[in-house]
Amino acid sequence: GRRPLVAGNWKMNGLLSSVPTVEAIRDGLSPALADKIDVLICPPATLISSCVAAVYGSVVAIGGQNLHARPSGAFTGSISAEMFADLGATYVIVGHSERRAYHYETDDGVHAKALGARRAGLRGIICVGETMEERQQGRALDIVRAQLAIGLPKGATGADTVIAYEPVWAIGSGRTPTATEIAEVHASLREMLDKLVGEEAHKIRILYGGSVKPSNARELMAVENVDGALVGGASLVAEDFLGICRAY
Ligand code: 13P
Repeated sequence: GRRPLVAGNWKMNGLLSSVPTVEAIRDGLSPALADKIDVLICPPATLISSCVAAVYGSVVAIGGQNLHARPSGAFTGSISAEMFADLGATYVIVGHSERRAYHYETDDGVHAKALGARRAGLRGIICVGETMEERQQGRALDIVRAQLAIGLPKGATGADTVIAYEPVWAIGSGRTPTATEIAEVHASLREMLDKLVGEEAHKIRILYGGSVKPSNARELMAVENVDGALVGGASLVAEDFLGICRAY
């Protein structure tokens, strides 16, 4: 089976004074739970070093939230996969809907960034998800399948790639799709993965993200083909994030 991954995306939140949150998450995972699931926190880039130091020797991994596709160069303000890896990050989120919406990231751009992550030995978490308008038009499956087909690098494996399904309308809204709707999307993504990478499709984790909280985590994480969560708001509070981890 696939090992669940519970990942926190802090977005543009957190100062040095937030590092104790990562320490509390580290200390709140029982050995039994740490045996069962992978745990990841993606803080702002400014906190990667401090957070890597804080989780040293524990099961908690640290990742970036975005990267530039190229390894280095004249790209003022950008951070490469190699730079994240240099600090001890092991994952990076690619193509989050906020990057797509506010920074005009395209599926081709996501593909290039996912390749950049792999080049540097980082695991890429490729995000896909439909808007409410697209869902109402009956286009949700078409949208996420196309995002995956274009974004996913050739030869992606369970070791280097994670997919996250995050319906745009569920992010930060307190609303989630029903278990049936999530199951439908995840099954469709799994089928598309099978088309793209064959047998390896069964090793690639597909996370659900969007308003995951301790109160709904058990139900959401039990949905077929849901291999973990990508958590925004609730990852900023150690007890909330741990409550989601404890759904396993
Ligand atoms: P919320 O958990 O705050 O809805 O955010 C989800 C998300 O965008 C994680 O990447």
